[in-house]
Amino acid sequence: MYCKFCRNVLFHVLLLRRVKMKKADIVIVGGSAAGIEAAITARKQYPSKKVIVVRKEKDTLVPCGIPYIMGTLGSADKNVMPVGLLGDAALIVDQVTSIDREAKSVTTAGGEVIGYDRLVLATGSRPVVPPIPGANLKNVFTIRKEIDYLEQLRKALSQAKDVVIIGGGFIGAEFADECRKMGLNVTVVELLEHCLYLNCDEDFCIRIEDKMREVGVHVNTTCRVTSIVGDEKVHHVECEKGLRFKADVAILAIGVVPNIELARDAGLEIGEQKGIWVDQYMMTSDPNIFAIGDCAEKFCFFTGKPTATRLASVATREARIAGANLFQSRRRRNRGTIGVFGTMIADTAVGVAGLTERASRALGFDLVIGEAAAVDRHPGTMPGAKELRVKLIFDRSSAKLIGGEACGGITAGEIANVMAQAISTERTWDDMAAAQIGTHPALTASPLVYQVVNAAEEAVAQLD
Ligand SMILES: Cc1cc2nc3c(=O)[nH]c(=O)nc-3n(C[C@H](O)[C@H](O)[C@H](O)COP(=O)(O)OP(=O)(O)OC[C@H]3O[C@@H](n4cnc5c(N)ncnc54)[C@H](O)[C@@H]3O)c2cc1C
Repeated sequence: MYCKFCRNVLFHVLLLRRVKMKKADIVIVGGSAAGIEAAITARKQYPSKKVIVVRKEKDTLVPCGIPYIMGTLGSADKNVMPVGLLGDAALIVDQVTSIDREAKSVTTAGGEVIGYDRLVLATGSRPVVPPIPGANLKNVFTIRKEIDYLEQLRKALSQAKDVVIIGGGFIGAEFADECRKMGLNVTVVELLEHCLYLNCDEDFCIRIEDKMREVGVHVNTTCRVTSIVGDEKVHHVECEKGLRFKADVAILAIGVVPNIELARDAGLEIGEQKGIWVDQYMMTSDPNIFAIGDCAEKFCFFTGKPTATRLASVATREARIAGANLFQSRRRRNRGTIGVFGTMIADTAVGVAGLTERASRALGFDLVIGEAAAVDRHPGTMPGAKELRVKLIFDRSSAKLIGGEACGGITAGEIANVMAQAISTERTWDDMAAAQIGTHPALTASPLVYQVVNAAEEAVAQLD
């Protein structure tokens, strides 16, 4: 007979033999944008700590590059993140199935138990599948971040003639542009008044829609899809008002839902926007667990309220905050998501930071708006010169910049980043009108007409 103590020891020895036990200081679940960045930051901040990343897939796609697999790149394997990015963090390819918060360990589908001091959840998001009849037909795709699935989509597109894209947000618009580069007859169906309507003001949306139409994409806005019709395979997409569009392939691009099941089952708090609740330091309701990226709740920089902005740029920023705070709590603070995004349709780029005019007015801001347009090289006869229009949105009561939009040449993307820095550091119209800038004929507008500065000056000119 064994005494109680011996029985306990024997039990644990047997348990350790049965399950494969591992232990790391930091365990990260998810190895895409957020998870990789968290591993990189954690290794830089805490070089002596052991980091394990667990993710479902061996190779991770560059998520923002997914549309470009279809036309520009031509295959999914040209859009894979280099494994070397993880440095000396260990990678386990497996699915985490549960978290034991008391034992501070996670269990995987493959039977591993991995102990942690700090756990980072970076489980991301998955596409929304709307309850539209026919959404399960063959050749109806969502946009999953999975190599094999996207290869199937690319193959189906390469055998198709007509494609209907349901959803005209930036992902739908990018897919439309890529499909037309493949020579397909492309139709976009968007429920709202305009494509990109959640990201830009109307005049900027119209410029992008005009460009889509100019290159041959059929754009249908204020148009609700009622069903996807076919036998075994999709044949056409039906909309309200009797509209129907022929489709050999239909792509659903209408948003994502955060993957929170692991966190919810472990009893962590979930936020209003269905993300894992986190504080300003990216800490969940358990001080040993952090959540970042698409799975984490976001808070608006301007209102402090929950928001649904899910972007890779937001995910990696949150990872840099969480990664630094793991063992030095409150080292980096998240003051909220500004929302900075860019896209390009054919040769026309758009870049947006912060609130749109429409969203600002809805929040009750009294606005002063300045706009300026100029070619993005100087003189305008330089090769590659293209007009870039900039709109800056200021709060009248504080004089601070709260939003900005740029549309035209490719510099729109980096101009959005300039505007985002000005918003996050609370620059006023005078700060921006007197901003220190650098210019070059082959790279920027002339200093005499630099769009961001001139738009700020135009706002100042409107003051009483
Ligand atoms: C087509 C497309 C284009 C986009 N373009 C842009 C863009 O231009 N700019 C931009 O900023 N954003 C863009 N985004 C958004 C961006 O892709 C996401 O915000 C980003 O991928 C979020 O990164 P993440 O690491 O939080 O989550 P995800 O990329 O969703 O990754 C989640 C990770 O978690 C792993 N995982 C999940 N559950 C488990 C589990 N139980 N066990 C183990 N591993 C698990 C997955 O395997 C994966 O590695 C785009 C998205 C799409 C779909």
